[in-house]
Amino acid sequence: MVDIMREDYQRVYAEVNLDAIRSNMENMKANLAQGTKMIGVIKTDGYGHGAVPLGKELEMLDYVWGFAVATAEEALLLRHAGLKKPVLILGYTFPYSYESLIREDIRMAVFRYDTLKELSETCAALKRKGVNAKAKVHVKVDTGMSRIGVTPDEKGLAFVQSAFDTENVEVEGIFTHFARADETDKSAAKKQLSAFESFLQLIKDRTGKEIPLKHCSNSAGIIELPEANMDVVRAGITLYGLWPSEQVRKDIVSLTPALSLYSHIVYIKEIEAGTQVSYGGTFTAASRMRIATIPAGYGDGYPRGLSGKGYVLVHGRRAPILGRVCMDQFMIDVTNIPEAVQGDRVTLIGQDGQEKITMEMLGEISGRFNYELACDLGKRIPRVYTKGGKILYTKDYYQDF
Ligand SMILES: *Cc1c(COP(=O)(O)O)cnc(C)c1O
Repeated sequence: MVDIMREDYQRVYAEVNLDAIRSNMENMKANLAQGTKMIGVIKTDGYGHGAVPLGKELEMLDYVWGFAVATAEEALLLRHAGLKKPVLILGYTFPYSYESLIREDIRMAVFRYDTLKELSETCAALKRKGVNAKAKVHVKVDTGMSRIGVTPDEKGLAFVQSAFDTENVEVEGIFTHFARADETDKSAAKKQLSAFESFLQLIKDRTGKEIPLKHCSNSAGIIELPEANMDVVRAGITLYGLWPSEQVRKDIVSLTPALSLYSHIVYIKEIEAGTQVSYGGTFTAASRMRIATIPAGYGDGYPRGLSGKGYVLVHGRRAPILGRVCMDQFMIDVTNIPEAVQGDRVTLIGQDGQEKITMEMLGEISGRFNYELACDLGKRIPRVYTKGGKILYTKDYYQDF
């Protein structure tokens, strides 16, 4: 924890520890086959952690092939921030962005014939303008998600052949995505893997070509499916030190949560027995109590589902949330923490002394998903990036307009 003195960060701020990001990557890398490279999945602004600062941190690592994002804008943002490594868009990319993406050498997932045609035509148009354009693509194969991708059969093979034959298009990669690699029972994931492997073999046998970058593993696969390493793996949630699910083994790769969320007590008072707290009066004091007000709420992405159930840490101790979490404030019980005073730091996510609150715990209590909680951390929360116990930079989204 780095103590941040800035007054405009006292309301709430997220500290993102870049050393944790680095060690999570190193620990995953150590669990991979020699030669398997890594893609840092930094979609949704790096799962709420901040795509650009993380990208800068990961770009230094030679085993990081590049980055993956979900949209054209996310990809272009990385380029505008000066990141040089390959960027792959994992989802469908709409044609309006092809020209900018090709100019920036951004890779797209392909699985529709019209995409191939439009990419080729966009390159041809760029060439007429004197730009040496080529569209690098990764064919997406659907082996069990039923989301996007071509089927791993004759029809899919025809698509791959067509991609090979399309002028100005270079098939750099081919990938699939596991639907159930985060379950204890790996049979569904293994079925997907073998469908993908058979398809790769079919492509090789029938076209005589081998696609350079074959990839299928997500975080769960990186931890528990060594047979699925291939040329490159896609690390998402584990990069942030969060777990794909409670079923994934915790003893194979050691992970450290990178993000902590802090606020400060703005008001302390005593209330009498019978006093209700917050909207709806869902909590009534049974006896005289000392309560504190925290100036953050669901408007910051702090889940309302924690109402009456969650807790925060004050002076290394748990302080339960009283009544409903409001949009911008909530109340906690500090009756048993007499040293708590106005201005004290409060840990919403992270470690304080012997106690810690993880994104997984918040998900469990609020009935939400840890991935979702991270992505939902709002733009009102400034991010503070630390490395070696020092503040490297800060990011205030609230100055955007
Ligand atoms: C989001 C995503 C990932 C990363 O998944 P994690 O479970 O966060 O590791 C990998 N591949 C694809 C296609 C994705 O959409």
